[in-house]
Amino acid sequence: MFGIAGHRAGDGGPVCRFDTRRAGREGGRGDHRVSVGRRGRRGAPPPFDATFVARWLRGSAAEIAAHRDFLTQLDAAIGDADHGVNMDRGFAAVASVVTAADGLSPGELLVQSGATLVLRVGGAAGPLYGSALREAGRSLGEASVFGLPELTSALEDALAGIVKLGAAEEGDKTIVDAWTPALRALREAHSAGVVAALHAARVAAEQGAALTTPMEARKGRASYLGARSVGHQDPGAASTSLLFGALERAASEAPPVR
Ligand code: ADP
Ligand code: MG
Repeated sequence: MFGIAGHRAGDGGPVCRFDTRRAGREGGRGDHRVSVGRRGRRGAPPPFDATFVARWLRGSAAEIAAHRDFLTQLDAAIGDADHGVNMDRGFAAVASVVTAADGLSPGELLVQSGATLVLRVGGAAGPLYGSALREAGRSLGEASVFGLPELTSALEDALAGIVKLGAAEEGDKTIVDAWTPALRALREAHSAGVVAALHAARVAAEQGAALTTPMEARKGRASYLGARSVGHQDPGAASTSLLFGALERAASEAPPVR
């Protein structure tokens, strides 16, 4: 069993009640599969716009809120028990920004959301996720619609922002351990279509988060515990898999842009 879905975090740790039936219904169904690129293979418009980004960010806020206690319990085991509370406060503020934003481009929405996270989330996660969203927004630039290649590049720039700030590598038991395999899977699944590719990314993020359990933390607060950090899932990797879950749902719950 991988990831947040029913994953037990350490001995006697919390178990997240992730709705696998919902994931199964949505995963890879392909109802809304569209051609990708600036102008799709069959002339379909690029599938993503500001509405999609807003849906992703609001969906992320809902996922984080639903898993707030789970994330905090993970952080209680190897940190200071604030990750769920931090992320919930920050993403609730992001959801308000998104709701109030009128006429912003997808990139501007992400840049403003990133700035909000930096302001509102304490600890390591605020600057890390904040710079991730900001870099993703910068990557999209002024575009009002974009395709899977641009989304993938934006998420890669987001990861580069996380690494630039936190200097973590895969295996250090951090956010990077969910983000990196998700992007690898996303690239590999490009030809399968938008929904299938984002499904693959979400699954890989969950697997990456689950695989942090046996790791010894080498970055962040958990690294102070040394070998005692082994046997617990990393809270930041878990929250990253929630963001990729929201991304998959944002693409599968609504038809592509007209
Ligand atoms: P804090 O540790 O300051 O209390 P949070 O609890 O909100 O901050 O976030 C902790 C998470 O931040 C960790 O689980 C880890 O995934 C992530 N993290 C910490 N340091 C780094 C880093 N240098 N690079 C990437 N992610 C990191
Ligand atoms: Mg913490």
